Amino acid sequence: MRETDLDIKKEIEELKSLIRDVPDFPKPGIVFKDITPLLHRPWAFQKVIDYIGNRYVGAGVEIVAGIESRGFLLAAALAYKIGAGLAIIRKPGKLPYKTLSATYTLEYGQDAIEIHEDAISKGTKVVLIDDVLATGGTMGAAIELVEKLGGHIVSVDFLLELTFLKGRERIVSKGYPVFSLIKF
Ligand code: AMP
Repeated sequence: MRETDLDIKKEIEELKSLIRDVPDFPKPGIVFKDITPLLHRPWAFQKVIDYIGNRYVGAGVEIVAGIESRGFLLAAALAYKIGAGLAIIRKPGKLPYKTLSATYTLEYGQDAIEIHEDAISKGTKVVLIDDVLATGGTMGAAIELVEKLGGHIVSVDFLLELTFLKGRERIVSKGYPVFSLIKF
C-alpha cells in the first residue's frame, strides 16, 4: 500500500519525538540535539535511511560524503542503501593520506575539516550528508572541499535542521539543493 502524505507526516513526527534535547551540552547555552534515541530503534534508523535514500533511486549518485562524526553513521548506511561509495570528511590530523583542507568560522575562532585528495574524482556525482544543520558553517567548508576536487554536488542532506539559525540560506546561496528530514 502506498503511504499517504498524512502517513509520512505522522512518521516524521514520530522520528522527531526520538530526538532528545540535552541542554547546556557541550557548553552552557547550547541545546544539543541528541540523535542516539532514534539510532537505538531499528525501525527509526531504517526509516530515516529509506526516506533519504529513496530520493536517489535512479539518480546515479556515485559517492556519499559524510562529515565527522555523526555524519558518518548516516553516510555509511545511505551509501550502502543506494549503492554508492563512501567518502569521509574529518577533523584535522585524522586522515592518513594526502589531504585538502577547508577552514570555517566558529562562534569563537576557527576550525577546519579535511578530505583525502583522491576521495572524489572530477565530475563524480556526490551527496553530502550530516546529522544537524545549524549555522551551515561546517557544511559550507565541506562543500568547498568537494568543489575543489571537482565533484558534482547533487544534494546536501541532513537528518535535522535548526531552521531558526538559517543555515539553509548559506548553502542555497552556493547553488545547491538542501534536504532535511526533520525540522525544528
Ligand atoms: P554548523 O556548522 O553550525 O551548521 O554546525 C553543524 C555541526 O555541528 C554538525 O556537524 C552538528 O553535528 C553539530 N551541531 C551544531 N549544533 C548542534 C546541536 N544543537 N546539536 C547537535 N549537534 C550540533
